[in-house]
Amino acid sequence: MLWRIVSFLLCQALPALAAWIFFSGSGEREALALLSALAGCYLWWLLDALRGRRILLWLRSGDTSQIPLGGGLWGELFDRIRKLVRARDRAVSESDKRLEEFLAALQASPNGVVLLDAEGRIEWFNQTAADHFGLDSGRDLQQHLGNLVRDPGFAAYMSAKDFRHDVEMPGRSSSNTKPVKLSVQLHPYGEGRSLLLSRDVTAVEQAEAMRRDFVANVSHEIRTPLTVLAGFVETLLSLPLNEEERTRYLGLMELQAQRMQTLVNDLLTLSRLEGSPLPPAKDWVVLDSLMAQCQQEARDLSALLSAAPRALHFSLDGPMEVAGSASEIHSAMSNLIGNAIRYSPAGKPIEVRWVSLPQGGAEFSVRDQGQGIAPEHIPRLTERFYRVDRSRSRETGGTGLGLAIVKHVSQRHGAELSIESTPGKGSTFAIHFPAGRVRQKQIA
Ligand code: ADP
Repeated sequence: MLWRIVSFLLCQALPALAAWIFFSGSGEREALALLSALAGCYLWWLLDALRGRRILLWLRSGDTSQIPLGGGLWGELFDRIRKLVRARDRAVSESDKRLEEFLAALQASPNGVVLLDAEGRIEWFNQTAADHFGLDSGRDLQQHLGNLVRDPGFAAYMSAKDFRHDVEMPGRSSSNTKPVKLSVQLHPYGEGRSLLLSRDVTAVEQAEAMRRDFVANVSHEIRTPLTVLAGFVETLLSLPLNEEERTRYLGLMELQAQRMQTLVNDLLTLSRLEGSPLPPAKDWVVLDSLMAQCQQEARDLSALLSAAPRALHFSLDGPMEVAGSASEIHSAMSNLIGNAIRYSPAGKPIEVRWVSLPQGGAEFSVRDQGQGIAPEHIPRLTERFYRVDRSRSRETGGTGLGLAIVKHVSQRHGAELSIESTPGKGSTFAIHFPAGRVRQKQIA
């Protein structure tokens, strides 16, 4: 400030002194000295105004990186403004960074997030929301969400303005073959703004539908033999039957009780397969004893179902061992053999083989010459309670769970179930075990 006063005074005094000396002989010496002082004063003011204008132009330009340098009062002013601007720039860039991090976190969310302004226009959305609602960031920002999401259920939800619960609607990519179900809820916040969250609940819905179907199927399967049993009990209690009739009824009751028992056993096996840890890859199961056991069971079943003899060919390609659970592998083998017996006429042969494969691993296969299966049924055969011929399955004591058990056992052993069938000619069911689970039988 002192320098400013001194420079102002010097700018007047020096020209006045120079004029005073220069015009010493002139009669207008005082007037000329006064004029020079005024001119100096004007020059000082002009220079000062120019420096002030520079700071104004700099502030107007908005380019805070190019800060003009200078000394004196204006220099200090520049300096202080520069410090303030830098501090502000730092705060802005820090809050920008925080906003970016926050948006990146929302972007990473597995749920769809849409930010809406007070008028319901889209301010921001993440990629999941774009997929759920078919939004495009280049096209749909600042658009009204109601104009873009046209589902009637969603429109009714938005107009009812009761956002305490969610609404379910089909996703944009939903189709008949691949349905997508979304759960959508609006959460108001701030001054009239809102946050729309969407969640893909397709898998949850499917699991719930499967659970409902399963309970309905089990109830149905148990109700049928139970109704028959109750009918026989009533008959036995109410009618005066002779010994022969009583024995016949009791025999039929036993059959129904066995059917229920088989069903409950299969259900328990399935739930054990789903709930227990994977079979260890270090426990080696000797196949020849398993094959012998299955062969005996096959003979018994075949004799039970028909008096006619049946050719059952069992072959094991050398002494082999498979890593896993003996009871599970036995269950898969006997289910496939049992099906071949039950779904092919008594006179037709059945071939059961364990072969080691040239590329490593081994295959267990059961080939029959029975009724075969039409191609459209094959992909669904391993679903629980799926049957091609319901009455044939029941007649022969089937539960509709056998192939579901085989599929589970195969998966738990890293193996693959394959089904080949020609209607009228027969079927081959095979389980392919990977190389790591098969070895030559060890000599103890
Ligand atoms: P089920 O107890 O009814 O036999 P599975 O799960 O074992 O149940 O088999 C499902 C369905 O697949 C059967 O109901 C039957 O229609 C069909 N199926 C299974 N194995 C054979 C086979 N070897 N030949 C023809 N159809 C078969």
